[in-house]
Amino acid sequence: MTPRVAVTGATGRMGRTVLSVARDRGIDVAFAVNRDASGEHVEGVPVRPSAEFEALLDEERPDAVVDFTGPDATVAFAGACATSGVPLVTGTTGFSEADVAALEEASIDAPILVGANFSRGVQALLDAVESAVTDLPEYDVELTETHHDGKRDAPSGTAKVILDRIEGARDAASERVHGREGEAPRDDDEIGVHARRAGDITGEHEVLLAGNHEALELTHRAGSRDVFAEGALDAAAWIATQPADYYRFETIASQL
Ligand code: NAD
Repeated sequence: MTPRVAVTGATGRMGRTVLSVARDRGIDVAFAVNRDASGEHVEGVPVRPSAEFEALLDEERPDAVVDFTGPDATVAFAGACATSGVPLVTGTTGFSEADVAALEEASIDAPILVGANFSRGVQALLDAVESAVTDLPEYDVELTETHHDGKRDAPSGTAKVILDRIEGARDAASERVHGREGEAPRDDDEIGVHARRAGDITGEHEVLLAGNHEALELTHRAGSRDVFAEGALDAAAWIATQPADYYRFETIASQL
């Protein structure tokens, strides 16, 4: 199915990429919004103020909304989607526990899908990391993520998903140690977490396992934001026919 989508955050890095990939794929865009819309067109689509989102949703009835904005905005968009029953796919990261609770509440009335990373390669990385951590239980684990200098949240949403998978695969309770400074000897069960911000790097995640005179590095590098937009639009096609519920991209990615 080719969904008719609405796009939020339309003038942001990911919003522009979603509109570009949608145009390449011949996907119909019902409407696009952004907080600071000033009459701009992106990929030929007029960008409307996000204050009009709820009214546009009722008028246009898209098959799904594709959202890459910020936590507060996503929670507000999800509330409007719940009111109108329109599915929402969000790639926004940096949600608080209260934000997740609000999204789960919205999912009672509309399908809501969250994905900290819409790349297929990262889904494969998660499986590879889980397998390596299971096979090498005594090895030290360190995670390093690198993103462009405009990224707001740290560590990245993808890093948190990777850490959840590592902890799920380890019997011992682990502690996340964010960077190190001064006297900082390593405990066996800690997982070092390092966030680098530089230039225009799209997104890199590296998991290092070391022990027994050897080191294993599992690395994913995104070469273009297109990979995230493609995964989000695939998810939009999938969610358009799903009942109201709370979905995670990592659990449905293999069905796409
Ligand atoms: P960005 O800052 O370039 O764009 C965000 C856009 O959202 C901006 O245009 C901003 O004006 C808009 N916005 C913010 N609040 C708004 C509101 N209340 N109403 C309407 N528009 C609003 O950021 P980005 O690089 O495009 O990333 C956006 C989000 O997507 C971040 O949370 C980022 O971590 C995440 N991201 C996720 C993936 C993934 O695969 N899931 C990939 C890349 C980025």
